[in-house]
Amino acid sequence: MRSLLSVVLVLLLILLGVGLFGLLRGKPETEQPVEPVVETVEPEASKEPIEAEVTAEPVEEEPQIDPSVFTDTDSFLIVANKKHKLPDGYVPADLVEPDIATTQHCTMRAPAAEAIAQMAQAAAAEGITLKISSAYRGEDYQRSLYNNYSASYGSETADTISSRPGYSDHQTGLAADFVEQDGSMNGINFNENFETTDSGIWLRNHAHEYGFIMRYPKGKQDITGYAYEPWHYRYIGVDYATEIYNVDEFYTFEEYFGVEGGDYAD
Ligand SMILES: [Zn+2]
Repeated sequence: MRSLLSVVLVLLLILLGVGLFGLLRGKPETEQPVEPVVETVEPEASKEPIEAEVTAEPVEEEPQIDPSVFTDTDSFLIVANKKHKLPDGYVPADLVEPDIATTQHCTMRAPAAEAIAQMAQAAAAEGITLKISSAYRGEDYQRSLYNNYSASYGSETADTISSRPGYSDHQTGLAADFVEQDGSMNGINFNENFETTDSGIWLRNHAHEYGFIMRYPKGKQDITGYAYEPWHYRYIGVDYATEIYNVDEFYTFEEYFGVEGGDYAD
C-alpha cells in the first residue's frame, strides 16, 4: 500500500514539474516574434505611396489651342506674317470707323475699333492724346504701297519696310499705327524714337489692358520678320494680350502661340 502511494505521489510530482516547465518555456516564445514582424512591414508600406505621388505630379500641361484660330478670319488670333498669307482678296466684313484721333480716314474691325476707342478715352483721362495714322489696309492698297517701295528701293529693301500684299497685319483690320500728336514724321513717328514719346510709353504700359499687343517688339526681327516698331499695335483680346505682356513686355505673338514667323520662304 505504502509503495503504491509513493509511486502515485512521484508521478504527480513529475506531471506537475513538466507542466510548470512547459508554462515557463511557452511565455517568452510567444512574446518575442510579434514586434519585429510589425516593424519590418511598416517602412515598406509607407514608402510606396510617396513614390507614387512624386511620379504623378509633373503631368500638368498648358491648355492646347486649336490651330484653326490662326487661319480663321473671324478669330482675333488670325495670323498675317511673312510665313502666313491671308486668304486671297480677304476683306473683313465688320469694318467701322474707330472713335479716336486720326491723321486720315481709318477703319478697323468692330471689336478692335471699340477697344481702341476705350483705350483712347483712358489715355485722355491721363492727359495723353492717342492718335493713329493707319489701321485697316486693303490688299490692293498694300500692293500699290509695296510696288512703289519696290520701284524706288528694290524688292529686298521693300521687304524690310513694307509687307507684300496678303501678308500685312494691317489687312486683318485688327492693327493700327500710332503717331505722336505733335511729332515730326522724320524725328519721332515711324521711328524707334516713338518709344520715348508720351503715347509710346503709355501704350507700352497699358495697351494689353485693352486687348492690344506690341506686334513687333525690340530685338525680335528673326521671330516676327520685322524690325522694332514701337508704334504698331495689334488687337488679340484682353486675356491673351495680358498673358503675353505678363511673360515680358517684349514677348511676341509667334513665341507665345508657337506660330512660325521670320522672313519670307522665297
Ligand atoms: Zn503698322
